[in-house]
Amino acid sequence: MASSSSVLSVSEAQKRILAGAVETDSELVSLEDAFGRIIAEPLIAKLTQPPFSASAMDGYAVIGSDVLKTPVPLRVIGESAAGHGFSGTVESGQAVRIFTGAPLPKGADAIVIQENVITSKETPRDIVIISGLPDANHIRPRGGDFSKGDVLMEPGATLTSRHLTLAASMGYGTIPVRQRPVVAILSTGDELVRAGVQPGVNQIVASNGHGLAGIVKGYGGQVRLLGIASDTRESLKDKIQQARGADVLVTIGGASVGDHDLVGPVLKEAGMDLDFWKIAMRPGKPLLFGRLGKQRIIGVPGNPVSALICARVFLVPLLRALLGIQPALDQGFKSMPLGEEIGENGPREHYMRAIYERDHSGCKTVIPLPNQDSSLMVPFVRADCLIVRPAGAPQAGVGENVTVLPLDF
Ligand code: AMP
Ligand code: MG
Repeated sequence: MASSSSVLSVSEAQKRILAGAVETDSELVSLEDAFGRIIAEPLIAKLTQPPFSASAMDGYAVIGSDVLKTPVPLRVIGESAAGHGFSGTVESGQAVRIFTGAPLPKGADAIVIQENVITSKETPRDIVIISGLPDANHIRPRGGDFSKGDVLMEPGATLTSRHLTLAASMGYGTIPVRQRPVVAILSTGDELVRAGVQPGVNQIVASNGHGLAGIVKGYGGQVRLLGIASDTRESLKDKIQQARGADVLVTIGGASVGDHDLVGPVLKEAGMDLDFWKIAMRPGKPLLFGRLGKQRIIGVPGNPVSALICARVFLVPLLRALLGIQPALDQGFKSMPLGEEIGENGPREHYMRAIYERDHSGCKTVIPLPNQDSSLMVPFVRADCLIVRPAGAPQAGVGENVTVLPLDF
């Protein structure tokens, strides 16, 4: 294990945070509560879909060979509607009136759509088929979508609207999903007041915790907001106690090496095994990581932009790992051409706030915003994405492709 004072690369830091991450237990939730949850076990169809061969159109169920030559008269012997099948058998010269979703009667093997049939009010049981069958026979065959026993969804998949629709038709009323990892969030600093409270002299609003909570919820975790600890050992100790049982504790601020930066020392006193507290990243140099028993502790910097970007880069992969989403480290990077030249990068991986812009030929490009100060939220909210500049990257010119992390939180 490297000494805790060495400066790690972002990717090495991510690997260390993910090391040994085990998926949360599974729990059963009803379909109503399953949207957005992560499937914990393979889902096997308990039913066959469609459960019976059904008509895809309104028309008449017939024997295909009866209607090869038209016009041809047929006798209507009954009706099959959705939810109400026809119990008899169709024989040569006969037809059954049928509607969309209704079961195909025994004996019939084709549907003639009603547009191709002449009927008469006086003799409703006598019809004339005026046009032959098209290529499609307008029947949805039993099992055409899936059959009982088919494995249709794998663990780690997110339950979207499409998945929920499929799961319901597979016969599921409840679904085994991963428990949401619990993330305790702690703001630290004597200068902080709760959101909604008028700050006094020298005070500012503790804003980051709310952004971090959004990231946690958006990526499938559940939040335990611990509020604000003041810059005292007692206060920090007390809050760290309150984080007990959470899968992850995220502390905000107080993690550099100032006289008032007590987060690291107090966590160590509480038993945390410190892994690292500095990374080669901009923004976000003082990033702390350690373990307290089974709990992982990530200490992000206090500046709002740094706090949120660090959460996106380090906490989100951890949430993915705890939820069984693979690969956990897939950040969803894209590659895009630059719309403006950017200078060479220093020794820290740089996450630059940037916007999309069309160039003169209409091609989508990416342009860094002029002010990259990590305390400024307004440009961050205006940004569409982050340009990820590797440590030591050379100057990059217009049209050159760069790595981009779309802002999805
Ligand atoms: P620190 O990392 O504690 O030195 O804080 C760096 C900067 O972020 C300081 O200006 C703090 O006032 C500010 N800050 C710390 N925590 C928060 C928070 N929860 N919300 C908003 N700003 C914060
Ligand atoms: Mg502070």
